[in-house]
Amino acid sequence: MAKTVYLRCMMCGNEYNEKVEEDVDKERTCPKCRSNSIRVLKNPPPKE
Ligand SMILES: [Zn+2]
Repeated sequence: MAKTVYLRCMMCGNEYNEKVEEDVDKERTCPKCRSNSIRVLKNPPPKE
């Protein structure tokens, strides 16, 4: 079952979200700066 996770790049501060299958802990890469210092946000920003 896919769900959306919210992520923030610790290098450039870019925030984005991504669909994942279950809770797979895979390596992520920032779409902007290609850093792999990505942190998962527990509380997603309240915007629609
Ligand atoms: Zn980045």
